Amino acid sequence: MQGSFRVGNLFGIPFYVHFSWFIVLGLFTLTYSSELGKFTELTGLMPLGLGFIVALLLFASVLAHELGHSFVALRQGIDVKSITLFLFGGVASLDRESKTPGEAFWVAIAGPLVSFLLCAVFTALNFATSTSAVGAAITGLLAAINLALALFNLIPGLPLDGGNILKAIVWKITGSPYKGVEFAGKVGQIFGWLAIIGGLFSGRFWYALIGLFLLQNAGGAAQGARVQNKLAAFKAEQAVTPNSPIVPANISLREFANEYIIGKREWRKFLIVDELGRLSGEIAVDAMRAIPTNEWPQVLVGDLMQPVNFEMAIKPEQSLLDVVMLFEKNQITELPVITDNGVVVGLIEKAGIVGFLQQQAVTG
Ligand SMILES: [Zn+2]
Repeated sequence: MQGSFRVGNLFGIPFYVHFSWFIVLGLFTLTYSSELGKFTELTGLMPLGLGFIVALLLFASVLAHELGHSFVALRQGIDVKSITLFLFGGVASLDRESKTPGEAFWVAIAGPLVSFLLCAVFTALNFATSTSAVGAAITGLLAAINLALALFNLIPGLPLDGGNILKAIVWKITGSPYKGVEFAGKVGQIFGWLAIIGGLFSGRFWYALIGLFLLQNAGGAAQGARVQNKLAAFKAEQAVTPNSPIVPANISLREFANEYIIGKREWRKFLIVDELGRLSGEIAVDAMRAIPTNEWPQVLVGDLMQPVNFEMAIKPEQSLLDVVMLFEKNQITELPVITDNGVVVGLIEKAGIVGFLQQQAVTG
């Protein structure tokens, strides 16, 4: 999240705080310390100090909620990239989604369960501290805050936990995670609109602000699901770049220049294939400069072959979604598409996938 800075590590998870967090911290401390000022036994800076401590406990509660999600995700072998606290609470950024709807359900519900648990703990403390008016007020407030955290997050629309639970349920029923996201995203948009309208009519602009946040994120989730659904429907071989840089080993440099380079898209390297189309190596176009042009008819492409070793290659039958995820994860923009027998189908490029999807949108 932009405007966030790293505070440290929690159980190996990078922990960030967004600057908007300080606004809440300040506002909460001020509001609550003036409330605590009513207690005559609190004098001087004590209300302010206690208000600040309660504000910190509020954020600890949010953090515990996010750690709930994170621990369940870690148990499923999912990396937690970060936890960030910001204006509307917290967010745990997971490296990938759960593999099954059941697992997704547990990741989603773990946060609210932690909040319910903390609510129970503070309620018990509230009884234990009932002899002290101040102690009871603080523990009562923290119990209420954790209950509110659990209930608010259980609103059944993405991006909230309730939305993720709804997504998991729809996923389980339909067998499609995208349908789950789309549905939960739409419900999130409805709740977003309700909060905006309700907030504006009641004059509670905080609700309107939360509604706007919901609307924005839920819309993005629904749209993302549509794109993912589309990507999952196509195979890598369908989006291979036409006229990919592939050249047979047994033609001369002269033919290579005439037929593959002059007047064609500029490639820096070509993959070299044998007579069966199997990958044998690569040739850098620059390497031809070392050979005088009058010798080009006698020198074969195979003579300038360099070994090539791809750490990653795509299989033709892999989905475009797989390809895009590999691109994103490894920060790369192209990969070769190679069959199990080593036959090179072509190159698949990030930009080419975009073009392919646009073409599909036009043709139906
Ligand atoms: Zn949550």
